[in-house]
Amino acid sequence: MTTYTPMMQQYLLVKQDYKDAFLFYRLGDFYELFFDDAIKASQLLEITLTARSGNTDNPIPMCGVPHHSAQGYIETLVSKGFKVAVCEQTEDPKHAKGVVKREVVQVITPGTITEGKALDGKSNHFIAAAESNENEEMVFAYLDVSTGEANCSVIEGSAKQLIQQVQAYAIKELIVTEQLQLLLADYAEAGGIVLSLETEEMDPVKANQYVAHLPVQLQGVAKRLLQYVERTQMRSLSHIQPFTYTEAHNFLRIDTNSKRNLELIQSIRGGDSKGTLLWLLDETVTAMGGRKLKQWMHQPLAKKNAIEARQAIVTELLEDFFLRDELTSLLKNVYDLERLAGRVAFGSVGGRDLAQLRESLRQVPMIQQKLVTSGLEKCTALGQKLDVCADIEQLLAEAITDQPPISIKEGDVIRDGYNAQLDEYRDASRNGKDWIAQLEQKERELTGIKNLKIGYNRVFGYYIEITKSHLNNTDLARFERKQTLANAERFITEELKEKEALILNAEEQSLALEYDLFVALREQLKGYIPRVQALAAQISELDVLMSFAMVTDKYRFTKPVFHDGRALKIIEGRHPVVEKMLNKQSYVPNDCVLTIDKNMMLITGPNMSGKSTYMRQVALIVVLAQMGCYVPADEAILPITDQIFTRIGAADDLAAGQSTFMVEMLESQHAITHATKNSLLLFDEIGRGTSTYDGMSLAQAMMEYIHDEIGANTLFSTHYHELTDLENELSRLQNVHVSATEQDGRVVFLHKVKKGAADKSYGVHVAELAEMPETILQRARVLLEQFEAANEEKPQAINYKQEPPTNPQLPEQVAENDLQLSLFAIEEEPAIAPEQQEVLDALAKLNVMGTTPMQAMTLLY
Ligand code: ADP
Repeated sequence: MTTYTPMMQQYLLVKQDYKDAFLFYRLGDFYELFFDDAIKASQLLEITLTARSGNTDNPIPMCGVPHHSAQGYIETLVSKGFKVAVCEQTEDPKHAKGVVKREVVQVITPGTITEGKALDGKSNHFIAAAESNENEEMVFAYLDVSTGEANCSVIEGSAKQLIQQVQAYAIKELIVTEQLQLLLADYAEAGGIVLSLETEEMDPVKANQYVAHLPVQLQGVAKRLLQYVERTQMRSLSHIQPFTYTEAHNFLRIDTNSKRNLELIQSIRGGDSKGTLLWLLDETVTAMGGRKLKQWMHQPLAKKNAIEARQAIVTELLEDFFLRDELTSLLKNVYDLERLAGRVAFGSVGGRDLAQLRESLRQVPMIQQKLVTSGLEKCTALGQKLDVCADIEQLLAEAITDQPPISIKEGDVIRDGYNAQLDEYRDASRNGKDWIAQLEQKERELTGIKNLKIGYNRVFGYYIEITKSHLNNTDLARFERKQTLANAERFITEELKEKEALILNAEEQSLALEYDLFVALREQLKGYIPRVQALAAQISELDVLMSFAMVTDKYRFTKPVFHDGRALKIIEGRHPVVEKMLNKQSYVPNDCVLTIDKNMMLITGPNMSGKSTYMRQVALIVVLAQMGCYVPADEAILPITDQIFTRIGAADDLAAGQSTFMVEMLESQHAITHATKNSLLLFDEIGRGTSTYDGMSLAQAMMEYIHDEIGANTLFSTHYHELTDLENELSRLQNVHVSATEQDGRVVFLHKVKKGAADKSYGVHVAELAEMPETILQRARVLLEQFEAANEEKPQAINYKQEPPTNPQLPEQVAENDLQLSLFAIEEEPAIAPEQQEVLDALAKLNVMGTTPMQAMTLLY
């Protein structure tokens, strides 16, 4: 250590405390990085790596970035999952004895970054903490440093569920204990989540205001999260709101898989949100509204009166198109109040931010007035509840200029009349400038030079400029030469020198005072943060409800009615996203009626007929309704659903093998173990990932279990035709099918859901419609008959709840016998050419019963 210069010793001392971060060490106008930091950062940021002698034999690797452009570099590192510790000079180098004092003033991490590209206006940027509790659940706390929102909840299940939750909220950084760090390391790495260790909890006295109201088991994790945020941000957290606790039974719970399967917020393909329910629903005009909508979609309600309260406002808004139109144009001028409040707390708010805050607050009395005079009961009440924050607006109106510059050091931020001393300085500098204009006039007259001018530059100050052509004819005795240009000379006079000193002094003092006033104003505004946040919450809710009304109007939604029972009735329901995507083609609406005695549906029909769309549309209607929105249907009478579970495969699952089947089983297991009779279950094509008999048996067993043990409203789709016989065994099961037909010799999917099972031989029919050669069709019919004959002991024949036979024939053997039977029949045909044999071999390998009609058609083609 002693072989290093005092400055490098200081660096190493600081670095010891920030081993897991890049240390940006302020040196004059640069932030410098040294040693390994420098080597890594130079690669990541593509900047030049140099070296510094540092008083040792081995030169120290070093690289640096200019302080004024550091933000971009910091963002780059943080977006790659790294942390950056910013170390500033904390004393004026002019007054320093020895090495200038330096301290880390902030650690910027993936979860705490509050500026720049990392922040999408319409998404929250949460950082989270987790711990496991005694019941082997995860306690989970998350907060958005930029807006101050803080929540916590309990997650049932293990590390995997936790990581899924983290991903559902697009969280980049998770704060953990040492024990969890080990457990989660692999998951986190695969999911691109940074795990950060925090060994302490925030001091209880300090943490009280944030956590005292929480159940005890949640306080620890919240305090750990607060500790981390405070330790890294090292500044006021006055905008962080008390944690809200999401009690599960108040919300419609949708597990992360199902959110993805239903494409609520993210599409299955990942990437942008196009094609999701959120995408369809988002007509919000403020960033806060966009975030609120997302939050509501993550957690639809499960309390009837809370849902109806939202509905009631939507209903009123629908009544008055003009009110909506006017409110929309006012809301468009409301900036992101939550993030502005966050920046006030952080001390990073600038003049322009405050002008935005003022502009936003100016809209509020007008919004209030529109609501209160609307003649609508709920809207009036909503308007009356608004805190218009007129005093804050007035303060900003008095303090801040109309169009302040970005930097608060350039002046022109504080308005005239706000502070008497500032006005004096400004007068002095403005009078001085008037005086200079007059002097210019006077000198022109004295010298008779019409183009004589007085100018100013930073280096030389004020000067009188005379072009070369006039120099010879002028008496230069009064003038002192300052600077020579190609075609002019610049001078100063005693008189000008004196005034210059006065003007510059006044300007300097005015800028310094303005800065101080701004900082004081910022401090004063911190006291108003909770009110601005409360206003933000009200405005964002209004924005979302407006969006609901807009969408309802645009897509002809209808108001769902809730009842206390469990029956569900949807008449002419639609899948709103598929409908929108279909563009001009018309979407075929379908009913779904589940009563207490018939609350399970088995849906059959060819691939691509619309089974999965039908199931999803039921779930989406439930979600929309419980968010408080209207729904795409002619009529909807709904129960309050507590949870939605889905097992819906993506189309490409068909091609994938065992692992997909495992996912299918895991998702089904999760649904079956967590569902209650008030849940909604969607099972799309269960068991298609395995062999026919295997899959069919599993599907049947699951249906029986749901029927007998759970009793939840359930939609089941299958291509195992045999399962339709279950209708006779399970009293609450009804068969429906999605129909297909022929038009001009082509298969046409009608997408209409009808009572009863699909026609068994629809595969052959479809092939017929596709004008398959008659020989093939005939052969297919023969084979079908043979299969059916051979399938006398098909699993379907196993009676409901009958004990298995003592010596059961293995399903695989049945399948193999079937194949041998059909191959034997083929072998009797004489003279098989080698290429024919090839086809036959391929057919022999085929699992006919596990092949969907569409696959069969493709294969035959
Ligand atoms: P399946 O699950 O039976 O294979 P999908 O539900 O995936 O079929 O539907 C296939 C396609 O059919 C959808 O992508 C959509 O374009 C169309 N479709 C589905 N349902 C309807 C409907 N009710 N009206 C119009 N088109 C539909």
